[in-house]
Amino acid sequence: MAQSSEQTDAAAGGGSQARGLARKRELGRGERVLPGVYRLRLPLPWPGVPHGNAWAVAAGDGVVLFDTGIHEPGSMAQLERALEMCNLRVEDIRLVVCTHAHSDHYGQAATIVERAGCELWMHPNHAHMADWAEDSDAAFARRLEIARSSGVPEEPLRRYAAERGSHDSGIAAVVEPDRALVPGVTISTDLGEWSVHETPGHAPSHVCLFQAERRLLISGDHLLGRISLYFDYGYSPDPVGEFMHSLDVVQELRARLCLPGHGRTFTDVDAHIEGNRELVHRRLERTLEVIASEPATAFEAAPQIYDDVPFSALTAAWLLTETLAFLLHLERTGRARRIAGEPERWTVAEA
Ligand SMILES: [Zn+2]
Ligand SMILES: [Zn+2]
Repeated sequence: MAQSSEQTDAAAGGGSQARGLARKRELGRGERVLPGVYRLRLPLPWPGVPHGNAWAVAAGDGVVLFDTGIHEPGSMAQLERALEMCNLRVEDIRLVVCTHAHSDHYGQAATIVERAGCELWMHPNHAHMADWAEDSDAAFARRLEIARSSGVPEEPLRRYAAERGSHDSGIAAVVEPDRALVPGVTISTDLGEWSVHETPGHAPSHVCLFQAERRLLISGDHLLGRISLYFDYGYSPDPVGEFMHSLDVVQELRARLCLPGHGRTFTDVDAHIEGNRELVHRRLERTLEVIASEPATAFEAAPQIYDDVPFSALTAAWLLTETLAFLLHLERTGRARRIAGEPERWTVAEA
């Protein structure tokens, strides 16, 4: 159940390498999934991730909008189209809540709060987004530096920099949350109150929202229908460890129905949690095997760890980031260590 489907959000940091690919674009669509709950399926410009969800939940004379879709030319029209299919308008939005600050969940927040005249609530640990949106050249340069010290040769690095093309961040503008979305905050809707649960790992700013009476979970990218791993690297001490803890946090909620950030709703929440744990363990074990056989840079290790995913220009940056996240977790749990040098190599830690 977890084959080669980990690509969701591979480009979430703002990569635009795929924009040149000709393919049929999806249209925004809206549908009611429960009384007072609407799924707004919004198109994305990313290969392998054709769309993402925003969720509109009835609240008094309007709706609370959970997540926003990405900002790109025509993207507000896609949101309007999806809302209209549910007899809703942007002006009906009373509050925007973002599960995390990736461009596909936060990109249109600035435009929507401006037009609807409403507040934005989001977790305060969103530097990973603000860095990118406010100075994408500097953020891109940092990525290249991480890639270089991880053993990526100069030639592909130059090609990567040249192919970068558009500098679009997918974010209309950086807008600070009016309210910090932290535990203890509740969101009122016609379905009842939603509580906030910090679930970092996929992104430092990630939260899940839970409606206890109905056991509904708005899971963002923490839990998806297709088991899919992505970790922001460089903004928190141990994204993999944080993600594993966040799986425990969500499991304790005993959700009955999950409203994810991409794809359809699903009910077998425990199976998805367990599937994520298994996949992380499998990747970690494989990472240890690879560096035990021979000290390796992250760049050398990545295609061996991900021998089930094609290593290409499109996947390389994502696979490298994930490999670094696994190595960091192994280091922090005493199982791997770095060998100083340029590039940096990794090996197993002596018992
Ligand atoms: Zn996403
Ligand atoms: Zn995301």
